[in-house]
Amino acid sequence: MSKDILTIQNLKVHFTQKKGIVKALDGVDVFLREGFTTSLAGESGCGKTTLAKTILQFYRPQEGVINFEGKDITLKGNESVIRKNIQIVFQNPFASVDPRYTVFKTFNEALSISKKVKRHEAEEIIVETLKEVELDLDILHRYPHQLSGGQVQRVCIARAIINRPPLVILDEPTSSLDITTASKIIELLDKLKEHLGVTFLFISHNLRVLRKISDYCFIMYYGKIVEYGPKELVYKNPLHPYTRLLIEASYYKLKSIPEPGLFVSGCPFKERCSSRMSECDNPCPRHEPQKGHFVFCHLYK
Ligand code: SF4
Repeated sequence: MSKDILTIQNLKVHFTQKKGIVKALDGVDVFLREGFTTSLAGESGCGKTTLAKTILQFYRPQEGVINFEGKDITLKGNESVIRKNIQIVFQNPFASVDPRYTVFKTFNEALSISKKVKRHEAEEIIVETLKEVELDLDILHRYPHQLSGGQVQRVCIARAIINRPPLVILDEPTSSLDITTASKIIELLDKLKEHLGVTFLFISHNLRVLRKISDYCFIMYYGKIVEYGPKELVYKNPLHPYTRLLIEASYYKLKSIPEPGLFVSGCPFKERCSSRMSECDNPCPRHEPQKGHFVFCHLYK
């Protein structure tokens, strides 16, 4: 079995707002298997992006550990571990690149953070990376506004992998693209995973997209993980009522996600759940109804 490249334990990120304390992450546990794609799914506002930003030290957790290859990267002094080993691709490709830079300059800038690359090697690496993301050489001297959304997202992916980081976070990387372009980006990411052995954390609200690309799935609701396991198990036999709604895509018919801070105890999904019982006011225990497939819900005793 593959080892875990990154493990997150009991991560808590709380924000103080006028309305009170917002528990953006409330005791999150996640593991990323090396060389595989793990998806983190849930509606907008559930804490997915906060988790990505906490991995990258944009936020400091109140509690918890993020262990990357034996180092707790929530601690000060580990910034260089993050910079060298973890990259991110964002949703909006045009907002992620400098409009004044050509593609070549974008790549060159990314390469400059790696002290291992000598100047004369840079061009070779840039050409090689361009091939890996299936872009033509002639785009190297173009600016972002001269490229399509799909091409700029490929540039962002190339920039993320150019220094060969072992882990890349993809935060809704296909959400701003049309269906055909998005599906080509998914195919590309799958090829890169095989070819480079890179580990991906793929964040999205769209379970149909995640079904194509994931090896492991974590379902998140209201700052908590509610279900996780290998993709085949989670999709064929979704256990948590929230996962079922996401997979059926019928959650659009439901009320929007409740205001942060509304719940004080018990299941975070209870206000929207048709199976709610009196026990649901108590914290949800973890159950493993299928080997390797876990759910936090009182329906499983
Ligand atoms: Fe529904 Fe209760 Fe399960 Fe929450 S714990 S999802 S309220 S049945």
